[in-house]
Amino acid sequence: MHTSDTSSWDAIVVGTGPGGATVARALTRQGMRVLVLEQGSAAPLKGTLVQMAGMAAIPGKGAFVHRDASLLVQGITAGGSSALNFATAALPPVAMFARHGIDLSAPLASLRAELPITALPDRLIGPMATRIGDAARAAGLDWQKLDKMIRPQICRAGCWRCVYGCPFGAKWTARDFLDQAIEHGAHLLDLARATRVVIEDGRATGVEYVRAGRTHIAQASLVILAGGGIGSPRLLHASGLRPARSAFFSDPVIAVMGTVDDLNGGAEVPMAAGVRYDDEGISLADLTLPGPMYQAFAAQAGRIDRLLAHRQTLSIMVKIRDEIGGAVGPRWVSKPLHAHDKDKLARGVDMARTILAHAGATHVFASHHFAAHPGGSVRIGDGVDSDLQAGAKGLYVCDASVIPEPWGLPPTLTLLCLGERLAKHIACHAVAVWPSCQ
Ligand SMILES: Cc1cc2nc3c(=O)[nH]c(=O)nc-3n(C[C@H](O)[C@H](O)[C@H](O)COP(=O)(O)OP(=O)(O)OC[C@H]3O[C@@H](n4cnc5c(N)ncnc54)[C@H](O)[C@@H]3O)c2cc1C
Repeated sequence: MHTSDTSSWDAIVVGTGPGGATVARALTRQGMRVLVLEQGSAAPLKGTLVQMAGMAAIPGKGAFVHRDASLLVQGITAGGSSALNFATAALPPVAMFARHGIDLSAPLASLRAELPITALPDRLIGPMATRIGDAARAAGLDWQKLDKMIRPQICRAGCWRCVYGCPFGAKWTARDFLDQAIEHGAHLLDLARATRVVIEDGRATGVEYVRAGRTHIAQASLVILAGGGIGSPRLLHASGLRPARSAFFSDPVIAVMGTVDDLNGGAEVPMAAGVRYDDEGISLADLTLPGPMYQAFAAQAGRIDRLLAHRQTLSIMVKIRDEIGGAVGPRWVSKPLHAHDKDKLARGVDMARTILAHAGATHVFASHHFAAHPGGSVRIGDGVDSDLQAGAKGLYVCDASVIPEPWGLPPTLTLLCLGERLAKHIACHAVAVWPSCQ
């Protein structure tokens, strides 16, 4: 049953992760009246385990357990997964997007000028990352500092809260852009779950959503879905625009851990440095996580004997570029790994074990694989065209689901570029308000 109080907007953005927040900010800067719907909460980030678990550990929403017991996590909150991600910035793969007729150089240049993208200064690199880096270089790996989206002047040495949601404003999150969108007049409804796009005569005319148990319809001739790699294909399916199952990638990760007896650490920013093998689709980085997360890995690997060793345990992330496969379904996800995905993970785990051996670590063990980058489920050239339009006039998708090929990289900076590019396309072609379009 719909309420009669419909509202009318120039554009509706569903989802407030990096894709959605960027589009919302850019459209409001052009004077458009934008409604933003987010199913998670916009309560301030506290950096606590309880709040993080509420965003990312809700079965069927923020956390999905596969039949093989592997875990897929995402953030259900204002800012999406960026609220609890590791803030590593990777440049968009230019050649991949060029193959799909997309040039991200202009948005990339302006975002790099604006955002705090830089490697951590030495004072913010923890003892565990330092030990792992020294060992990796001793093992002959080209281990380098990674660019982070962290304001070093605010970030505190010995702090790990960014993993639970930085409460100090040191880490850039999509909430930064969302706040700016709101300052420019966007109207945010949090705890509002979009249920379908309203389509009439082949064009989007609004979004149906549920808030506080009541169903509403908001009207707009522009709808941008940014519900992430799982949320957007589901919404398109619910709107009659996609089949029930969408294949996807997840960038699976294994954490390889080993104990040293001369360190007392465990509180530092993860992914301070690492190495990438882009041809193979394997990357490694230090991955020091807070105690409860470490203990979850140790328990999951059956290493009860290591549960109390957090402060002495070095942890290395092995991440791979997996094949597109499995399916995001209406209420579930499934991502079995192909044999060559497993081979890649095994090669990466071997490299991590070599590093740990050089670091003098003992009691080495590996976690089961898990993942945090669902994407590629509404790919450019398949689910959307190169302007990110999806199956109906005025309907666009802008999030990790549009990534056109297997991935294996930190996606955030690429999604920000796609968001800026889409907003410019909309302003120039759909409404022609962008100053440089006139
Ligand atoms: C633990 C972790 C660490 C990570 N580390 C990094 C890193 O270091 N660097 C990096 O670049 N990336 C990292 N990522 C990944 C990165 O954060 C995500 O790829 C990115 O946030 C995806 O952006 P998105 O725009 O696709 O949407 P998301 O961030 O997935 O946000 C989508 C939003 O849409 C909302 N939504 C979905 N469906 C609906 C609906 N029906 N109605 C209303 N709202 C809806 C969701 O609640 C969510 O808030 C990490 C992720 C995790 C979980």
